[in-house]
Amino acid sequence: MLNTLKNRFEQGYRTCAYPKEKPAVFARYRGKPVIQKGVSKDIVETCANACPQDAIDIELKKIDMGRCVFCGTCERISNGAFVTFTNDFEISVSRKEDLLTDGDLPALAEHSKQHFKKLFGRSLQLRQVSAAGCNACEADLNVLATPFFDLARFGINFVASPRHADGIVVTGPVSRNMKTALLQTYEAIADPKVVIAVGSCTLTGGPFLGSPEITHGLDTILPVDLFIPGCPPHPLTNLHALLTFFK
Ligand code: SF4
Ligand code: SF4
Repeated sequence: MLNTLKNRFEQGYRTCAYPKEKPAVFARYRGKPVIQKGVSKDIVETCANACPQDAIDIELKKIDMGRCVFCGTCERISNGAFVTFTNDFEISVSRKEDLLTDGDLPALAEHSKQHFKKLFGRSLQLRQVSAAGCNACEADLNVLATPFFDLARFGINFVASPRHADGIVVTGPVSRNMKTALLQTYEAIADPKVVIAVGSCTLTGGPFLGSPEITHGLDTILPVDLFIPGCPPHPLTNLHALLTFFK
């Protein structure tokens, strides 16, 4: 007991102050992409040809964050003349079309649904379904339960059964083998329920784009309320989305 108290005294309070204060993220973290104004079409085309995800719209001069895996190739080969990836991790949206961006994202809070806030603002229980994810999206959701993020202080928890849940958080590209299990999990949750898509795999297929073995976008089979981009999304991106949309 004394050792526990001594340890606590020495360690201090380790939980981050977010959302009151934004913690500093790793210097090389790539968050919201901001397209340079007036960039030439040639530069955009060069970047689009090099993009492994076919995520750059040449005509609109925008990046589809649903497809982007934030590899940084386009920033690197254009030497920043096309895009700069900022360290802004607040990049989630509630409408899929808003994932196509030049850096001007709509405020998520303005699109959150009032009845969701009323229903789930004090308590939100979520069932996580890994539908063939690589485990990185899952790990960065898992870390929300650690003392640093302490998701439970906001009344949000991950639960073991869909019968106890208010919604599902889906990761992975939804392989053919996982599709039935995912749909059955969704059916097992009582109405009203929410669907949260996490990671480029779930949003569009991500690195598995074009494969006949996957579902190209969770929204093609379920009504998605929240789209959280990234490969994987930063834990703070997940936290921002959950707090802004439901609190
Ligand atoms: S950072 Fe995104 S848009 Fe740029 S090359 Fe990589 S996947 Fe494509
Ligand atoms: S989005 Fe990226 S990190 Fe997440 S499951 Fe797919 S490949 Fe893994």
